[in-house]
Amino acid sequence: MDVLLRNSQSYQNDKMTQMQPIRIAGAGPSGLAAAIALAKGGRAVEVHEAKPDVGTRFIGDLQVIEAASESEPIPIFLDRIGIARNFYFRAADWATFYDHRRIARVIRSGEPYGWFIRRGAEEGTLDRGLLAQARAAGAKVIFGSRLQTADIVATGPASPDGLAREMTWHTDERDRIDVYFDHKLSPGGYSYLFILDGLATFGCAIVADFKRIDEYFDHSIAAAQQLHRFNIPQETRTGYSYMNFHLKQRATSGDARFVGEAAGFQDYLFGLGLRYALTSGHLAARSILEGRDFDDLWRSELGAKQETSLVNRFLYEMGGNRGLSMFVRSASRARDFRGYLSGWHQRRWWKAMLAPMVRRVWKHDGRCHHKPGEHWCRSRDTEMKVPPLGPIV
Ligand SMILES: Cc1cc2nc3c(=O)[nH]c(=O)nc-3n(C[C@H](O)[C@H](O)[C@H](O)COP(=O)(O)OP(=O)(O)OC[C@H]3O[C@@H](n4cnc5c(N)ncnc54)[C@H](O)[C@@H]3O)c2cc1C
Repeated sequence: MDVLLRNSQSYQNDKMTQMQPIRIAGAGPSGLAAAIALAKGGRAVEVHEAKPDVGTRFIGDLQVIEAASESEPIPIFLDRIGIARNFYFRAADWATFYDHRRIARVIRSGEPYGWFIRRGAEEGTLDRGLLAQARAAGAKVIFGSRLQTADIVATGPASPDGLAREMTWHTDERDRIDVYFDHKLSPGGYSYLFILDGLATFGCAIVADFKRIDEYFDHSIAAAQQLHRFNIPQETRTGYSYMNFHLKQRATSGDARFVGEAAGFQDYLFGLGLRYALTSGHLAARSILEGRDFDDLWRSELGAKQETSLVNRFLYEMGGNRGLSMFVRSASRARDFRGYLSGWHQRRWWKAMLAPMVRRVWKHDGRCHHKPGEHWCRSRDTEMKVPPLGPIV
C-alpha cells in the first residue's frame, strides 16, 4: 500500500514538473532551437526575449551556416534537429578570396561549404523563421522580458572577444561572394562582400584594436572598391556586434544550461557560431527531455571540435599575412573547398598536443569580461600587435 502511495506521489510530482514551463532566456537561434525541440517533445516552454522582436542585433545581413566542420550536410542536420527551412536558404559552393597583395583566387566546392541565410527582425530571416516554428510547435514567446535566471540561458555574447561592423543595402548588381584576408585591414579577422539575390552585405570582423573598428571598416571597403567597383546607395543599414568565444569545463550553473554564444560556443577560426548555437540549443533540450547530463552531451559533440578550432585560430594569427596567402592559394587549388576546409577541422594528433600549449600561451591574466567562474579568455587589445593603417589610398 505504502509503495503504491509513494509511486503515485512521485508520478504526480513528475507530472507537475512536466507541466511547469521550461523557461528560456533569449530568442536567438540557440534559444529557439531549444524551444522547438522541447515543445515538439511535449513540454510547456516559455521563451523570454529582452527586446521587442527577434534578431534585433542584426540588420537583415547575409550570414552562412558552415558545412565543413561536420560530415553531416546542413539540410540533413536541420531535419535531424527538427528545424524546417522556412527562411532564405541558399547553397554556397563558390567564392573569390583575396590576399593582402590583392591577388584574387576563385574557390569551388563540389558539395556546399555552407548555406547562406539572413539575420534580423524581418521576414525571410532565420530569426523570424525559427520564431514561427517555435510558436507553431506550442512555445510561448514573451517579448520585452529580460530574465535573470532561466532553465536555459541563450542570451548571446557575454564578452567582447571579437567585433564586427556590417552594412547592408539593396542592389541590382550580380551575385558575388568575396572574402578579403589581410591582417592589416582586419586584425585577426577578415572583411567580406556578399551580394546575393539583390541584397548586399559588407562586413569587417576584427579580434583586436576594437576602438578603431570604423577605420578598419572604411579602409576595407575602400580596398574592396579598388578591386571591383560596386555602388553603395544613399540608403544603407549599419550595425555593430560583438562575438564571444570561450573554452569551458562546464556550460551549466546549478540547474541552468548555457547555450549558444552565452556559453561561448563558437568556432574560433572564422567566428562562425550558428551551427554551434543550433546544436547546443538542441542538446540542452535533449538533456531535459531525456534526463541526461548537458555537460556530457555538449562535450562529446562540441568539446574537441571547439578546441581544434582554437588551434586553427592560433595558426591563423601566427602565420600573419604570408600564412593567409598560403591559405588562400591552397584553398583555390583544392578541387573541393569543403573537403579542404574540413581538413582544418579534423582533430589531428598534433593539434590535440598543441591545444594545451595554445591555452597556456594565450592565458589572460588581466581584465576579464566574463562572469566569475571557470573562464578562459585573453585580452586581445594588449596582446596582438596592430600595425598603423595610414590614410585611405
Ligand atoms: C556581424 C556578425 C556576423 C556573423 N556572421 C556569422 C556567420 O556568417 N555564420 C555563423 O555561423 N555565425 C555568424 N555570426 C555569429 C552568430 O550570429 C552567433 O553565433 C549566433 O547569433 C549566436 O546565437 P545565440 O542564440 O547564442 O545568440 P543571439 O543570436 O545573440 O541571441 C540572443 C538573444 O538573447 C536576448 N537576450 C539577451 N539577454 C537576455 C535576457 N537577460 N533575457 C532575455 N533575452 C535576452 C538578445 O536580445 C538576443 O535576441 C556572426 C556574428 C556577427 C556579430
